[in-house]
Amino acid sequence: MRITQKVFYDLAIWMVIFGLCIGTVFPFFVILLGVPADIALKPFFFTACLGAGALAGILNYSLARSIVGNRLKVLASSMSQVEQNINEMTFSGDTSKCTPEHCAIPVDSRDEIGESAVAFNRLVESLSVSIQTQAAVRSFSRMLTSQLEVESLTEKALELFFEHTGAGAGLIFYQSDGLMKLAASRGVKNPDLVLAVPYVQDVLRTGQKQIVPLSRTVSVEWVEPDFQPGEVIVLPVTNKDVLIGMVILATGQKFDAIQLGRIDLFIQGLGLALNNAMTHDRLQHLATVDPLTGIFNRRFGMRRLQEEFRKAVRSKASFGILIFDIDHFKVVNDTYGHLVGDRALKSVCAIAKDALRDSDILFRYGGEEFVAVLPASTEQDLWLSGERLRKAIEGTTISADDKIVCITVCIGGAAFPAQPVENVDHLIQLADEALYLAKNSGRNKVQIARKTAGAAL
Ligand code: GH3
Ligand code: MG
Ligand code: MG
Repeated sequence: MRITQKVFYDLAIWMVIFGLCIGTVFPFFVILLGVPADIALKPFFFTACLGAGALAGILNYSLARSIVGNRLKVLASSMSQVEQNINEMTFSGDTSKCTPEHCAIPVDSRDEIGESAVAFNRLVESLSVSIQTQAAVRSFSRMLTSQLEVESLTEKALELFFEHTGAGAGLIFYQSDGLMKLAASRGVKNPDLVLAVPYVQDVLRTGQKQIVPLSRTVSVEWVEPDFQPGEVIVLPVTNKDVLIGMVILATGQKFDAIQLGRIDLFIQGLGLALNNAMTHDRLQHLATVDPLTGIFNRRFGMRRLQEEFRKAVRSKASFGILIFDIDHFKVVNDTYGHLVGDRALKSVCAIAKDALRDSDILFRYGGEEFVAVLPASTEQDLWLSGERLRKAIEGTTISADDKIVCITVCIGGAAFPAQPVENVDHLIQLADEALYLAKNSGRNKVQIARKTAGAAL
């Protein structure tokens, strides 16, 4: 049966026909009740019965139309109000527009109209959930395209996982050199323990998602002490079917079907974005780091030096640079070979990194020449740092076959604004001249350029 036909038009026809039938049957009925046939079948009486039947049909139709029709009108106008709210919610993204007060029709009857309202409310509810999920996926996708680096991407991703899936603790790992490395964590006390958990190991081995219900009596070591997870989900993150990371989320109760659906949708987008971010980080690393020593390369180091110089000029702060060069390095290469020479370069850099502050910037300036940029340092600070560096390198040895190789460096330094230079090239030139003086005064020495360029401390 089609319900789009004109229901009330059909109802009118059927009711009038029914009234006419009653009107036709009525004279014969009254004969059965004992009324004489010549009276009951009189044309006037017969016509009056037909007329009364038709009238009853019309009245019935009018009553039905006004009672049922009005209620249907109320239902229809509620539906169009809900439709407006849903439209507003879809385009504004404001999901608060579709709470039960805004979007549900009050159900006050248990008849077919009541059932229609209940069915409509259910439809609206699932529509509202799907619009909310769409909005969540949109905001997740927007975030994915706005973050370039692994760290910021995974931090933001975890934030959105928490917001849209009710997770109370979570971690994101990424694959690097065959190992899973932690990229971001929230509500986690001990991330190192997570990779050893058997169900996490299972996911790493099989590449299949796992949902693990947890008993309230079992304490979970890796989460914050005030949080007791009821369920954990472990998801592999893949790109072109290759495992590139893993997301682990824990919730206090159980993830419901809507939350699980959202998690799956988020994970699909995360694979490609994480892969792009990992590629970006690798390129960034290649572009800034010297592959042999692991410190910054000359191009990046010079850029950072420029930045520090500008900052110092702007804020009238002092800063300085140290240039150091390994003494008689040719002899090391010629005697022990280039591989030992390379090891010596790596060791010198590792020691220098240790000896300098975290805020100092160390880069490879040339073959065996290095520059350290020391923000907020005066000539005196440069001298002290240079001496500390010189002594640290002097005290270290490198083993070559069965021999011990001793390495020393000469260090030249120049500070700004003690040296009133206009640009970094000039500052480097002054530090280089100081280094030259240090070399000339023997080896294993520190010289700092003094107020008159060329003189040394
Ligand atoms: P000085 O005390 O005057 O500095 O003497 P030196 O022998 O260190 O002289 P110089 O600075 O001219 O020597 C630089 C040497 O460093 C020459 C080059 O073979 C070596 N070198 C440059 N880059 C590398 C590198 O990446 N690995 C190795 N093993 N050696 C390098
Ligand atoms: Mg040199
Ligand atoms: Mg040298």
